[in-house]
Amino acid sequence: MNSFFDDAETVSQIGLTGISLGRPDVEWHDRGFLQLSENVAQSTGKGPKVGLVSGGGSGHEPLHAGFIGNGMLDAVCPGHVFTSPNARQIKSATRAADQGAGVVHIVKNYTGDVMNFGVASRIAADEGHDVETVLVDDDIATETDGNDSPGRRGTAAAMWVEKVCGAAAAQGRSLKEVAELGRRANSQARSIAVTLSGCHVPGSEESFTLDRGDMEFGVGIHGEPGISTEKQQELPELLERMLTKLLASLNQPKQVALLVNNLGGIAELEISAILVEAARFLGTQDVELVRIQSGAFTTAWDMRGFSLSLMAVDEEMLALLDAPTDAPAWQTPVKFTEVPQLADATASTLPTADSGVPQRHISAWVERVMDSIHDLTELDRKAGDGDFGINMRNALGPFELPLKGTPSEVFHAISESYLVRAGGTSGAVFGIFFEKLAQESEGAEKLADIDLSAALRASTDAVMDLGGAKVGDCTVVDALVPGIEKLEETGSLEDAAEAALKGAEDTANYAASKGRASYVGDKSKGVIDPGALVMAWLFEGLL
Ligand code: ADP
Ligand code: MG
Repeated sequence: MNSFFDDAETVSQIGLTGISLGRPDVEWHDRGFLQLSENVAQSTGKGPKVGLVSGGGSGHEPLHAGFIGNGMLDAVCPGHVFTSPNARQIKSATRAADQGAGVVHIVKNYTGDVMNFGVASRIAADEGHDVETVLVDDDIATETDGNDSPGRRGTAAAMWVEKVCGAAAAQGRSLKEVAELGRRANSQARSIAVTLSGCHVPGSEESFTLDRGDMEFGVGIHGEPGISTEKQQELPELLERMLTKLLASLNQPKQVALLVNNLGGIAELEISAILVEAARFLGTQDVELVRIQSGAFTTAWDMRGFSLSLMAVDEEMLALLDAPTDAPAWQTPVKFTEVPQLADATASTLPTADSGVPQRHISAWVERVMDSIHDLTELDRKAGDGDFGINMRNALGPFELPLKGTPSEVFHAISESYLVRAGGTSGAVFGIFFEKLAQESEGAEKLADIDLSAALRASTDAVMDLGGAKVGDCTVVDALVPGIEKLEETGSLEDAAEAALKGAEDTANYAASKGRASYVGDKSKGVIDPGALVMAWLFEGLL
């Protein structure tokens, strides 16, 4: 199941109730529209304001309800999922939104929407309302030359048109001016979308299915297939292709705003990364990118895809886009100048342990861990979350072997690298362990000068103090404690290494009770704790 509901109608009904629950500033009228409440609506200070009404099928949230607010929409008519609202809903909304200065309908170019808004505007006109319609048709996937096909679909640029009209209306501009600005905004905006999946509307099959490794290019926002099913392209190539098409369709504009829109199923962090890559590409083109926006604005239910929109802007358009609004889903466009270079300042100042006496024993341990990254990750994948090997590699990989310096310097360098580069529990555990070891080894020129059992004991105590683990909890402690006890007892590193390894291997006999592996309970049984294994290898290395 891809939904917690059985059918689309139930979700959309309850969902709309939820939307109005979350918007105390909006009223849900039983004639089928949401409207900004009179008590929050601000006046233009210049007489009645032009009313703005939009709407369309549900399933594209936050479009349109999220854009109700001062400076954007006055009323919105939601249809059923992916179904246009009916003419009666729209007529009622039009009536309610008309303060005496007329109403602009903002309509995405789909036959059903166009027809129902068309019927409503005719009836409203008969009733004496002045209505202007602004059609949004930005999707170049369905661009055709001259024949009588429906032409470009209306998609993500609807939000820009709503913003431009909203800002103009809030300034007290006339019906004709508001509509004209909306039309200009639309004519300067283009979009194109791509997806790795269809959408999963509750109660229906996935709208279309793609083979693993395929993508659907030029997809719409209702789960209708796009213009081609293709092998998935590398992102930079894909973005270049999409943006080049958009720029060409806009006749090579001078300045643009960029919108990276989540179709519903892409992680926000990934959308942010796509924004950066798109901005990078535009930086290589003969165009100035002046505003950026990214996030989920016009979704296609849960589709694992995104759309890119470009709008050719000038001072007037920018002022309207930048003007304030309290519509909650609108995100103020960010002024773009360049993609920042986020240098990893902390990591670049870490000690490198590359001068002085080579420390072959410690280096042998590092080498052994580095040779086992895959196996260690497998152990953590079975019992934990599968990042242990990566954390080890991040900490130890940057060193050039053999490590050089006094033992204390080398341990300190290892500690710093764990604390800064590794992350995870192991970053903290190995970080504090090696820092204590560094302190305990101060003054020693070589390993043999260190009281190893005291130093290891102090380091282990620091780990136990930090994480509260005891023997039997399936952690590094299970290797460290038996190893140290043996060392204290016999003074033989060889015996200690053997005891530590046995301790590590014993972790397979019981379930982890500390760290991330503890969340998987008995599943960690039969799996050696990777942290314990790495600590056992340390004894062997020191040997
Ligand atoms: P995470 O648990 O955050 O995914 P890692 O996978 O990097 O972290 O590290 C897991 C290792 O950390 C385990 O193999 C275990 O040896 C060690 N560990 C977990 N919890 C503790 C603890 N409380 N004390 C000492 N070591 C621990
Ligand atoms: Mg882990």
